[in-house]
Amino acid sequence: MKAAEVVVIGGGVIGSAIAYNLAKAGVDVALCDRAHPPAGGTASGASAGGVRQQNRVGAELDLALRAIAIWRDLESELDADLLYRRDGMAICIDDERLLPALRRRIDGERAGGLLDVRLADGDELRRIVPDLSREIVAGSWCESDGHADPIRTTIGFQRAAGARGARIHPDTPALDVLRAGGRVQAVLTPQGPLPCRTVVLAAGPWTPALLKKLGCELPIRPGCLQMQATAAMPARLRPVLGWVGHGISLKQVPGGAYVVGGGWPGRGEPERYQADVIPESMRKSAAVVVGLIPALVGVPVVRAWVGWESFSEDDQPVIGALPGIEGVLIAAGFSGHGFALAPAVGEQVARAVVGGKIPDVLRPVGPDRFAASPAGGAKA
Ligand SMILES: Cc1cc2nc3c(=O)[nH]c(=O)nc-3n(C[C@H](O)[C@H](O)[C@H](O)COP(=O)(O)OP(=O)(O)OC[C@H]3O[C@@H](n4cnc5c(N)ncnc54)[C@H](O)[C@@H]3O)c2cc1C
Repeated sequence: MKAAEVVVIGGGVIGSAIAYNLAKAGVDVALCDRAHPPAGGTASGASAGGVRQQNRVGAELDLALRAIAIWRDLESELDADLLYRRDGMAICIDDERLLPALRRRIDGERAGGLLDVRLADGDELRRIVPDLSREIVAGSWCESDGHADPIRTTIGFQRAAGARGARIHPDTPALDVLRAGGRVQAVLTPQGPLPCRTVVLAAGPWTPALLKKLGCELPIRPGCLQMQATAAMPARLRPVLGWVGHGISLKQVPGGAYVVGGGWPGRGEPERYQADVIPESMRKSAAVVVGLIPALVGVPVVRAWVGWESFSEDDQPVIGALPGIEGVLIAAGFSGHGFALAPAVGEQVARAVVGGKIPDVLRPVGPDRFAASPAGGAKA
């Protein structure tokens, strides 16, 4: 295969955003994926598409703030309709005893730079979302949160990367990363070796299998998340809704469907790239949703789907250079909230590759933070 300076392994939204930013910086980049991303059963193919800044901590909040600045003009930058809507998000509570914790979170996020987030009482939230349950007493309201279409976004990054010279190789699984003298030489694929100097591992929950080939171990594990959507309904809900303690995220997408997620489990065998819906997750999440929006009682659910996500030990992404092996970076472990971050992750990883130095915003989420972890540090 034709050599590239950098090979990105994994064409989900993260790998695609990285490939796009590298190509934009003039780097000779190739992206390989085992399937045609965003494939079914992957996180980017299944994502709920929430683009939120609130309810994030530490470096993830910094990345989210940067990502939102990029999201603002992303559709024109990629020349693609990503169905991005910046109509706000409310994370609701139905019990006044939860107010102190909610206030503390809001104060922490405002201190961290998210000035758009504030406390709203139930009546104000019902003015924004007229169908919201009377049980809701308050919530955190962030008007610059929103949602976008994850499949369009992934494809948008890939096409824009291709237009800037990136070579996209679907149906090209990375079987191994070949090295000589402690340096990367090539990515091995069934079509032959793809020579390169730098590799970015962005294979979601399948990244640990590649790390193993490199003699490394990081505390990243697969988790299967489930979604469902109703029939198309007249447009009534503009913001995204969450509900503390009930594991729900709810939005109405431009086609009219209400899309329900929030961490409900699916099941399957990630090693076989196989995932199934759990009917109990559908029943339970539907019961929760009608508690939040009673007007949805009787609205038919027409579709449910699942996707594998990579979860890190501390629920923060794992982004940076792999200690001990020159020329390998990782971007995985997004723990159920990486879609919104993708534009900033792409930008910062490309900056790390081009500048040869990890940007400050990525330092707290580097793989080296696990070195002292009993669950296993990077061993190269
Ligand atoms: C149901 C669900 C709902 C979510 N909702 C939200 C949300 O509302 N907001 C939010 O911000 N985040 C959300 N997330 C999280 C977000 O979608 C993910 O963090 C993000 O999509 C991760 O993208 P990725 O590119 O790292 O992984 P993936 O999309 O899984 O991509 C990994 C790619 O690697 C490829 N691959 C695997 N092995 C190999 C190999 N050996 N060689 C080549 N290619 C390989 C796969 O085919 C795949 O295309 C959700 C996730 C799920 C599952």
